[in-house]
Amino acid sequence: MGLVEIIPLGGAGEIGKNCTVVSQGDDMVLIDCGLSFPNEEMFGVDIVIPDFTYLVKNRHRLKGIFITHAHEDHIGALPYLLAKLKVPVYSSELTIAMLRQKLEDRMDTREVKLHVMNPGDTVEIGSLKVESIRITHSIPNTTSIGVMTEHGWVLFTADFKFDFTPVDGKLTDLARFAEMAEEGVVCLLSDSTNVERPGWGPSESLVSEGFRKVFTTAPGRVLITTFASNIHRMQQAFTVASETGRKVAIAGRRMEQTVDLCTRLGYLQIPANTKIKLDEVNGLSPEKIVILTTGSQGEPMSALVQMSKEEYSRMRIREGDTLIYSARPIPGNESAIWRTVNRLFRMGANVIYDSPTPIHVSGHAYQEELKMMINLTRPFYLAPVHGEPRHQALYREIALEMGYPAHRIFTMVDGLPLRIQETSAELGEPVECGRVLVDNAGNEGISDEVLRDRASLANDGIVVISLAIDPEAGEVVGNPEVMAKGFSGPDKALQLCADTVYDTIRGLKKSELQDVDFVRHTIGDVARRQFSRRNQLRPLVVPVVIEA
Ligand SMILES: [Zn+2]
Ligand SMILES: [Zn+2]
Repeated sequence: MGLVEIIPLGGAGEIGKNCTVVSQGDDMVLIDCGLSFPNEEMFGVDIVIPDFTYLVKNRHRLKGIFITHAHEDHIGALPYLLAKLKVPVYSSELTIAMLRQKLEDRMDTREVKLHVMNPGDTVEIGSLKVESIRITHSIPNTTSIGVMTEHGWVLFTADFKFDFTPVDGKLTDLARFAEMAEEGVVCLLSDSTNVERPGWGPSESLVSEGFRKVFTTAPGRVLITTFASNIHRMQQAFTVASETGRKVAIAGRRMEQTVDLCTRLGYLQIPANTKIKLDEVNGLSPEKIVILTTGSQGEPMSALVQMSKEEYSRMRIREGDTLIYSARPIPGNESAIWRTVNRLFRMGANVIYDSPTPIHVSGHAYQEELKMMINLTRPFYLAPVHGEPRHQALYREIALEMGYPAHRIFTMVDGLPLRIQETSAELGEPVECGRVLVDNAGNEGISDEVLRDRASLANDGIVVISLAIDPEAGEVVGNPEVMAKGFSGPDKALQLCADTVYDTIRGLKKSELQDVDFVRHTIGDVARRQFSRRNQLRPLVVPVVIEA
């Protein structure tokens, strides 16, 4: 029997940009193709996507892309990959519909084959068979994905929780997972995001109670901010609003699009006479209103953030408004979120971000649920993904406690293939892998050097040092000039820098002064060293040599 490789190109040892290859002989499939968000040091970076070099090089083997669900960390990089490779995509109805909407802005969707693959469906890709299995998460139509290889099922749990009272009533197909265990699961790639939380996670349905409490006690309008993709949450808002005599309006283009799409496809059931337009809000008394709004991550252009700055033309925050913060801050967004919340308080609104009756629950499995998944599928190898190294380490500990021997638990790392043979498995040599930074305009490939320069600029400003030389004669002409912007060091630091540069350049040999590049580098080095040693500053230093 042959070799089966599982290669994470993203999503292993991190939360975000999930993207994993399963390969056997000449056949290769990709599970998910997501993005992640930049950290606070990545100035001017909008999103981060996986490096697709490995996929492009193996394009003749890549025969299908399977998407577990429509969250950005699983689907968001797909438009960038499809721009390079026209590989057929398979996913459930809602995910395909949301993907189509996303792609329509960028390309002719007739060029790509988008196949609906509903829970329970299987697709043969060469020697591989791929099956999707229904599982519960915070977005409808989430599926685990099994890839049948020569060694058994390679099973991706996808993001999941075991929710026995899901909002849409569609339960996890536990029976199929148990059957797969009988058929043989060679490797389980499990969500590990919430491994630090003991016990069982609460059901999404509990949020209805939290909403009901606020809807019946809030003195005025209720605003709810959540992810634009949190369809279950929006369903609960509509249902509870209708029960408590409130009408629901939507603020934010992405949320409006999602609501329209899901209503059309039947994933949202809006009670009659419950939805109103945002412009109709002013004609109703405040205690009859709920507004669903984007901005749960403090995104600068979102409706909520604009409202908090009185820059949103369609609606204003009023004293007596109540905002329910029904989301989890993605790490890195906290300060933007708190700034928004604080502005709202200052405007006289009340913000509920924590409550004894839940107003938000996680979509990811807690410890006991993760154990149940292991018990249910009885995999030979375990590979926690969708987690940072600390999550993977804790998952490993739990698996050890459950009696798994250490050599059957793998800590996956982006770019390292897990190579499964008939009687053994090991992590192999790295493949080309990394991150690609994309700016606001959709341009790919902001380099680390550009990032470093931007960080220097943001922290310590820019210093331009110009010096004229006569390269033919090998002589310095005049004194160096120093100009600075955004530089916060003492004035004399700049003069001192000019003096040091001058002394150094004057000490160069004639032949060295004839080499313009050498002079430029020397000026830069000397100036940088000077600022960092004397002032503990790292401005962006730009040396300019003028040939006189
Ligand atoms: Zn995810
Ligand atoms: Zn998810």
